[in-house]
Amino acid sequence: MTILSFFTRASRAFNGYPSSSKLLLLCTLSLSGGGVVAYSEAQVDASKTSVQVNEKDCKKKRVVVLGTGWAGISFLKDLDVSAYDVQVVSPRNYFAFTPLLPSVTCGTVEARSIVEPVRNIIKKRNGEIQFWEAECMKIDAANKKLLCRYTVENNLVGNDEFSLEYDYLVIAVGAQVNTFNTPGVLENCHFLKEVEDAQKIRRTVIDCFEKAVLPGLSEEERRINLHFVIVGGGPTGVEFAAELHDFFQEDLVNLYPSVKDMVKITVIQSGDHILNMFDERISSFAEQKFQRDGIEVQTGSRVISVSDKEITMKLKAKGEICSVPHGLVVWSTGVETRPFVKDFMGQIGQANRRVLATDEWLRVKGCEDVYALGDCATINQRKVMEDIAAIFKAADKDNSGFLTVEEFKDVIDDILERYPQVEHYLKSKHLRDVTDLMKDSEGNDIDEVDIEGFKLALCQADSQVKNLPATAQVAAQQGAYLSKCFNRKSKWKDNPEGPRRFRGSGRHQFHPFQYKHLGQFAPLGGEQAAAELPGDWVSVGRSTQWLWYSVYASKQVSWRTRVLVVSDWTRRFIFGRDSSRI
Ligand code: FAD
Ligand code: MG
Repeated sequence: MTILSFFTRASRAFNGYPSSSKLLLLCTLSLSGGGVVAYSEAQVDASKTSVQVNEKDCKKKRVVVLGTGWAGISFLKDLDVSAYDVQVVSPRNYFAFTPLLPSVTCGTVEARSIVEPVRNIIKKRNGEIQFWEAECMKIDAANKKLLCRYTVENNLVGNDEFSLEYDYLVIAVGAQVNTFNTPGVLENCHFLKEVEDAQKIRRTVIDCFEKAVLPGLSEEERRINLHFVIVGGGPTGVEFAAELHDFFQEDLVNLYPSVKDMVKITVIQSGDHILNMFDERISSFAEQKFQRDGIEVQTGSRVISVSDKEITMKLKAKGEICSVPHGLVVWSTGVETRPFVKDFMGQIGQANRRVLATDEWLRVKGCEDVYALGDCATINQRKVMEDIAAIFKAADKDNSGFLTVEEFKDVIDDILERYPQVEHYLKSKHLRDVTDLMKDSEGNDIDEVDIEGFKLALCQADSQVKNLPATAQVAAQQGAYLSKCFNRKSKWKDNPEGPRRFRGSGRHQFHPFQYKHLGQFAPLGGEQAAAELPGDWVSVGRSTQWLWYSVYASKQVSWRTRVLVVSDWTRRFIFGRDSSRI
């Protein structure tokens, strides 16, 4: 067996066993030649040639997937492609592991280590998936058609546009950067959303240092070139600030000694704290760490314009307006809906909404056979109070007008599944059992309730409805969930598995999507990280950074990227980061 075929087989074997990823640190350190594994996975099956875009396989329903990000790829990874004619449209022919994008901005990890070609991912499926490097420009919901445009430059097709019919459409196109229409942001700020953005930031950071050491500049000019401003104190902005600080302290300080005291990093945050979506303990740990590191955190400030030289903001407390000169601004303040999705929302009666709404099964509201997941959509959780009369009627089996404890217990599993906010409500009130909700107006336990008592028991549950965050974790879980539903579609009619329908009869076809929060990390630089783990558990410090390394390595989409990422970390430990401006 040649060494190449050994690696080909080994890497295939590894892909089938995600749990073996725990061995990854060991394996990678001993595998200094990660590139060999990379090569073994990069071979493309030449026998798969493209077909006419609209040549439909009549026997199979066509599923068109828009997007190759977290949601789209996790949907495709588990989909039974033998049952469908699957077509994927995305302007990006690769999947990018976004949580490591901040590491790409300073060269801690190389850009190519965090991307996996889509064709590598789809060729492993036991069926054929067509991929089109194109972007969807319009969804024609009435005719089940998409208008797309090739994004390959100088393609020989002639007409750049084509249309694509679908039976089922899966929209997983993510979201775009939100500038809040702030003047000058598009022209003068960097963003940190795509791989190209991270590469551009990496080059600009080095440019700033090279410019700052040119002869003939005043000290003031050098300082301005080395003032790095980050707008937005969320996880991305904070992680970038920490990366930049490490890059400077660990590598650049030795290469640009003459300007080492002139570097300044400022994080501008409109709220009162950075990382305010995290537990308070994490946000104050981050603020203290940044203070020790000399990273300035300016809270309570809203940016009102950005020019090529200055950033202007309003200090909320005093109402004052001030301008600060900058060398580089990174804008990281949140996301908004893409324009073609907005147009689609207009067609289906969602024009007044900010984000595309789906039901709990990820089906777009107001449009048959269209699903949306990830950052481009939000689940509109049905309120328990909207259905309260129907629930009472279904539960009151003997039509007595009263609900006994037994009757209540009979439907509670269905209620908890259909309206998960009820369970959150019980937890928030520290109630062990739903029957603890059965009280009279004085708060005494009772054996049965009428409709008014039932309403009273559940009237506050809907306050626990929360939108899911726009994270990779949510998108990936939604993709995996939806592929399971698609794989079981043919069985659904005879064996519905979901909760009972309180309005109407029978059961829902599938269980609704349920998000499991596995915790979140905030790397803070200097080999320290903070983590919020399930069960209200907070962990900070160096050990958390090691946990971060192992979790992010194990979450890689392939063994190829896993090996590359761990070798990049090892290279950085030994040789430091590369400051070449290429
Ligand atoms: P994306 O992953 O953005 O994918 C969208 C896909 O749609 C892309 O392939 C895109 O090319 C394609 N597309 C765009 N327009 C079109 C079109 N017109 N037609 C067809 N296709 C189109 N989340 C975490 O959980 N943990 C983290 O640590 C974390 N860190 C992050 C760090 C950074 C720097 C960033 C930017 C995000 C981070 N996130 C993190 C958030 C996470 O990346 C997103 O929530 C996630 O990418 C959403 O997945 P998605 O599939 O909805 O969208
Ligand atoms: Mg009864």
